Amino acid sequence: MSRLDELAANLAEVRERIDAACRAAGRDPGEVKLLAVTKTFPASDVRLLHELGLRDFAENRDQEAGPKAAELSDLVDARWHMVGRLQRNKARSVVGWADRVDSVDSVRLAEALAKAAQDRGRPLDVLLQVSIDGDTSRGGCAIPDVPDLAGAITRSSDLILRGAMTVAPRAMSPTAAFEVLEEVVSRLRDDHPTVTEVSAGMSGDLEDAIAHGSTCVRVGTALLGSRRLTLP
Ligand SMILES: *Cc1c(COP(=O)(O)O)cnc(C)c1O
Repeated sequence: MSRLDELAANLAEVRERIDAACRAAGRDPGEVKLLAVTKTFPASDVRLLHELGLRDFAENRDQEAGPKAAELSDLVDARWHMVGRLQRNKARSVVGWADRVDSVDSVRLAEALAKAAQDRGRPLDVLLQVSIDGDTSRGGCAIPDVPDLAGAITRSSDLILRGAMTVAPRAMSPTAAFEVLEEVVSRLRDDHPTVTEVSAGMSGDLEDAIAHGSTCVRVGTALLGSRRLTLP
């Protein structure tokens, strides 16, 4: 089987899971975007997924994503997302390739991204990453700090707050985690009308996320296969 056939078969399965989860939740599948997490996979795979109709691609490391996006610059309608932990000193570099940064979790990072977006001359779409269990060592903003961070983002004219993202903590049921995120987003929405995106759900838990209002599932393994371990 060619890689294109393999990816097509995986994509059909993932779409079927999304459709089934939407039916179960009484939602329109058009409300749930599929973001392909292409970290550790080559640019050639991204090109094949684009050929199969996908347009949103996510990466978690600036060093890997920058060259990959550059190699694929002819895919003019591809949208690149940064979903990984991000050091402030990488803000300028990330803003060079990312259309949206989905992992904004501190005021200081937001400020660095705002400055980088201002210098590139185009506002940057961002998601606020929420830490459901408060263990911020794994990324994300603790829930009590969300209003301040959202305020800092929306006060900047160089950032546009599109929504929130979370990764369900390992020690918690995904259902419980996504319920909490749903609440956090609904409070955010009251204060910030640009908030529409709820990025939740990965290969293992996308059904739970869709049941709790996810508008964007981030799928790596189920689309591309297992990742080889990479050095940190
Ligand atoms: C790697 C990654 C994913 C994809 O995980 P899979 O289990 O392979 O689908 C989703 N979100 C983030 C933030 C990731 O780093």
